[in-house]
Amino acid sequence: MADPVSPSDTRRLMMTSALPYANGPIHIGHIAGAYLPGDIRARFERLSGTDVLWVCGSDEHGAAITLRAKNDGVTPREIVDHYHADMQAAFHGLDMSFDHYSRTSSSKHHQIAQDFFTTLLKKGSFEVKTDAQFYDPEASQFLADRYITGTCPKCEAPGAFGDQCEKCGSALSPKELIDPTSTLSGATPVLKDTTLWYLPMGNHEDWLKEYIEQGTFNGQPHHDAQIWKAHVTGQCRSWIEGGLQSRAMTRDLDWGVPVPVEGADGKVLYVWLDAPIGYITATMEWAEANGKDWKDWWQSDQTDLVHYIGKDNIVFHCLIFPILLREHGDYILPTNVPANAFMNLEGDKISTSRNWAVWVTEYLNDFPEKSDELRYVLASIMPEQKDSEFTWTDYRERVNNELADVLGNFINRVLVLTNKYYDGVAPAFDPHSATEAEHAVLEALRIAPARVGNFIRRNRFRDALQEAMGVARLGNKYMTEQEPWKVQKTDPKRTEAIMHCCIQVAANCSILLEPFIPRTASKLQEALGIEGAIWNTATPEIIPAGRVLTQLPILFEKIDESIVEAQLLKLHASRATEPESEIPPSKPEMTFEDFQKLDLRVGEVTACERVPKADKLLQLTIQTGLDERTVLSGIAEHFAPEEVVGRRVTLLVNLAPRKIRGIESQGMVLMAESADGSLRFVTPEEGTQPGDIIS
Ligand SMILES: [Zn+2]
Repeated sequence: MADPVSPSDTRRLMMTSALPYANGPIHIGHIAGAYLPGDIRARFERLSGTDVLWVCGSDEHGAAITLRAKNDGVTPREIVDHYHADMQAAFHGLDMSFDHYSRTSSSKHHQIAQDFFTTLLKKGSFEVKTDAQFYDPEASQFLADRYITGTCPKCEAPGAFGDQCEKCGSALSPKELIDPTSTLSGATPVLKDTTLWYLPMGNHEDWLKEYIEQGTFNGQPHHDAQIWKAHVTGQCRSWIEGGLQSRAMTRDLDWGVPVPVEGADGKVLYVWLDAPIGYITATMEWAEANGKDWKDWWQSDQTDLVHYIGKDNIVFHCLIFPILLREHGDYILPTNVPANAFMNLEGDKISTSRNWAVWVTEYLNDFPEKSDELRYVLASIMPEQKDSEFTWTDYRERVNNELADVLGNFINRVLVLTNKYYDGVAPAFDPHSATEAEHAVLEALRIAPARVGNFIRRNRFRDALQEAMGVARLGNKYMTEQEPWKVQKTDPKRTEAIMHCCIQVAANCSILLEPFIPRTASKLQEALGIEGAIWNTATPEIIPAGRVLTQLPILFEKIDESIVEAQLLKLHASRATEPESEIPPSKPEMTFEDFQKLDLRVGEVTACERVPKADKLLQLTIQTGLDERTVLSGIAEHFAPEEVVGRRVTLLVNLAPRKIRGIESQGMVLMAESADGSLRFVTPEEGTQPGDIIS
């Protein structure tokens, strides 16, 4: 049984971070959710000498990408190529130290995912069913996942998708949605027969329950269930208790991994079947490039498998993927799935569609060379157990009060005084000149690596960072209290003891903080002459007497209030005015007879003027083919009269005349109104003539 606390020098650690979805840029919520925790853990394990591998990659399939491509008028390939590069730049800028970063649209991955599917097919893991699925008659397409939206049957939130409600996190199937609507056309979907391969999840409830609640598998201890986060176990428990539904593992789509079955043209693997297999593909690619055996990482009971994800992915990593791995038979199961909750921003949920986010590449443009500052703040407020919140004021306070005033100030004083008193050479230490104060500091250093490390191995990164920063705080406080700048005048021997202690504290900081703020740690290690640092060498005696220390520029600049204001201004200014879900619902159904009553014709505007004392009205003279008539239209705030003259319009000619401001309006000009309130004419195509009948 894996003990995550003891040094794991005999066990391998296979780590994955959720494959980011290649249809949008990376924001701080992504980083705090799945990537920074993975990076801190991976860096720590490498420093500790663990045989660790951390992989990730772009998730490039699924309905959201085809939908995005359709909306943007480009190909899915263009979308994923763009965001694959964009996401890599964001990760690189924040020093995410993946051992390998892959992508799921590669032919290699298609092959691996198809092989996996075929193995399960042969083992009879799927149920093949031909039954009625929602189909958009206007778009001529089956509607799965994000192609369909409706009210969540579990929490009654509107805007739930066909695969998941983002409000309550429930996994859904399209038929469970209340009032389903096609996101392609807004049409109410109809039912149409298609063949799909289902995973009968209900058959797996018993062993899943044991695996998650007790940490046992096949009757054997598998992992320490106590280490699992309560909110992860809780979510899984409630799903299993609610009864697991069969889930379709294929889709009727033209973008994805083709279903490797004769006659299954136009069908691809469900993105949540192929994406986690992407972890395996990434491992294979890494192993091939490094002359290793990928099976050591996925098929050996000497390996612990840990998935870093956000809470919206719990169902896929704790239930579906383990079922797939177990059904395949050759694979180990996840040892832990330390999902994080969500990070909010300035009092609201981070939202890509509303552009309410701090985008990583934008941050790096605005704050060059300040990746450690962001990593530090995100680690300090990481949403480990429940949602947390990023604010620019808090960012400023943490950078100024903690990084600059504590860590930066301490390091600066250590290096400056060493330079001043000893020409930059670490002084000798005579233990006889040490007092209680020195012994207390050195004892704190002795126990710090284990304390920080235990927190990291338990995925308690906030506590780990607190503990590591505690060493810097201790050093800062110790130095302030001992006042070596005064003691030096009367007792240089004692000053040597104080400075020796301070230098050891600085050296320990450079190692204990490396997983969190690697750039700063690396600068500090260079200044202190530490090469090839390993976790266990964080001891009270790292820097020997006689070591030459070099000076460093100020490590952390203070953040001015005006920078906070500028970021807040930018955030609010770029916020999308209306959320996407503001499209009004469809009106009640009408009969064909009702529709036939409408007499719609092409008209041409021959004259136009403002209506006196009416801010919103324009008076249009329109040639209808039948006659020339006057029509009033409430578009004066959107169009000047001269913009309207000469236009062809769609006109309802048989609307009962109405008198407005003393003028009789004989008909209505059709306008299209967007969600943001902007108005546009519904213009008949080039070549139509006044009088043409619209039906
Ligand atoms: Zn819900």
